[in-house]
Amino acid sequence: MNKFLFLLGLAGLLACGAPAGDQQTNNTEESTTAAAPEETPAVAKLEIEGNDQMQYNLKTLEVKAGQKVELTLNHVGKMTIEAMGHNWVLLKPGTDVAAFATASIAAKDNDYIAPDQMDSVIAHTKMLGGGESDTITFDAPEAGTYTFICTFPGHYALMKGEFIVSAD
Ligand code: ZN
Repeated sequence: MNKFLFLLGLAGLLACGAPAGDQQTNNTEESTTAAAPEETPAVAKLEIEGNDQMQYNLKTLEVKAGQKVELTLNHVGKMTIEAMGHNWVLLKPGTDVAAFATASIAAKDNDYIAPDQMDSVIAHTKMLGGGESDTITFDAPEAGTYTFICTFPGHYALMKGEFIVSAD
């Protein structure tokens, strides 16, 4: 009984014994510590949309050299993959985009990426229809400006953008 009362009293002391001021001091210290190291995140998470108007919602994507890139393509339209398919294909520097896209028109079975042009591809999502998504992960290439396109026949003229890798 005495022991119980003692514990009860101790609990009461602890509950009242920590003034609000002390707790705030502690919180401040914690948040300062957590925010101190300002480093580039190891993973760059990117999202880009394609729609039924044959357009991406972004013309530019940016990451830093050395980052792992986690990119999600969302087809936010309602049209089928046969009518309005979209993918996201990142090309190596120096790629002849028009020649690449033209060669890929016949490559329906390979998500409209010509198999003999795969050497020019750094990374790519699969081909999507309306309402679908695909996420890919790859290492950011060396610093520079790269081109990304949708390789569905006729789309690259509108569906094209810059993937910019800045030096870390
Ligand atoms: Zn497309």
